Amino acid sequence: MTFSYVTQHNDTWFRIARRYGVSTSALFCCNPRLREHAYIYPGQIIQIPLHPEAGYVIQAGDTLPDIAWRLQISPGCLTAANPGVDPLSPCVGQTIKLPAGDGAEIVDTKREYGYVELMEDIRCLRTKYPFLQVKTIGQSVLGRDIPAIRLGSGPKRMHFNGSFHANEWITTLLLMKFIEQYAHAYDHRQLLRGRNVTELFAQTSLWVVPLVNPDGVELVHTGAVPDPVQHKQLVRWNHGSLDFTGWKANIRGVDLNDQFPAYWEEEKQRRAADGPGPRDYTGAHALSEPEARAMADFTSEHDFDMVIAFHTQGQEIYWNYRDMEPPASESIAKRFAKASRYRAIKLHASDAGYKDWFILQFRRPGFTVEAGIGVNPLPLSQFRSAYDDVIGLMLEALVI
Ligand SMILES: [Zn+2]
Repeated sequence: MTFSYVTQHNDTWFRIARRYGVSTSALFCCNPRLREHAYIYPGQIIQIPLHPEAGYVIQAGDTLPDIAWRLQISPGCLTAANPGVDPLSPCVGQTIKLPAGDGAEIVDTKREYGYVELMEDIRCLRTKYPFLQVKTIGQSVLGRDIPAIRLGSGPKRMHFNGSFHANEWITTLLLMKFIEQYAHAYDHRQLLRGRNVTELFAQTSLWVVPLVNPDGVELVHTGAVPDPVQHKQLVRWNHGSLDFTGWKANIRGVDLNDQFPAYWEEEKQRRAADGPGPRDYTGAHALSEPEARAMADFTSEHDFDMVIAFHTQGQEIYWNYRDMEPPASESIAKRFAKASRYRAIKLHASDAGYKDWFILQFRRPGFTVEAGIGVNPLPLSQFRSAYDDVIGLMLEALVI
């Protein structure tokens, strides 16, 4: 059985599936003709399947921790909801109960993640964990608030950010899942990967900006902007293509990680992009874009001891900048490499990035982490392995 739904502004296949609690493959089956197009547009009528009551039939090889991960449920809550079931070898064919409500995790790592999901999850996380502090550090070109989330209140000042590049939106998901697990561990006085989170909260103030480039990420997901004239221009900058999944820049076609006053002129020459486009255009001048300005102001205001910018991909850690980094940077990068199994790389011939500017301006350790391996945008199937790597690095950063 299905029912009809008229698509709205900002809808994507994933967002509709999430709202109605069905899988995207079930949605595609009910709408085979529309499935041929990556994007859906406001005003289209699609069919949505009605889904059965929640329950899960154990398959060969399943364990409760694996099921919990796949379905985004807390493993402890899943075990508690099924007291007679052996967590590591449940009976094949048996239907188990899926807990809802308080036990369910908020950040869904099985679905694509954009600005809409981010703001919804921040609202939910704040309700569940009132000790989270959230503030707006500025607005994007299209007027979207750029949020920052603070965890902990210690004297050490640490900063993580993600999605400077639009097609690297999986980094927002990495940071949001970390925020959720870190907050959950603090709330329940639990260890996180062997670390005492209560102590970490007392030692360190961690500020996370999970999505630096909201307009770009929404363009990647929805393929649209509200203004048709601007949309035409974007298609032109995108070399005539309506497929924006590879777009890195902000909505004005400027690469936000080539915007910082750290030998910006040299970067401009090196990139040699003559105007706005999906990538590599440094802008008319350093900090010409509101997202980059917001990050520079926020960073200066908070006087961070260390910053890490998360990008994809390559499983690499960049730690130096024109010999301006402090001596500790290299050894910290080696600790990060050990914690994540990524390679610490000494980079040359790159300027105007956020971490370059941070090192030049403050002479403190700044890092770029290229999470995961493959081709951008990294598929969600990469999430779990990328997260397993970077959570070790993030926790290591908090004890330095
Ligand atoms: Zn990047």
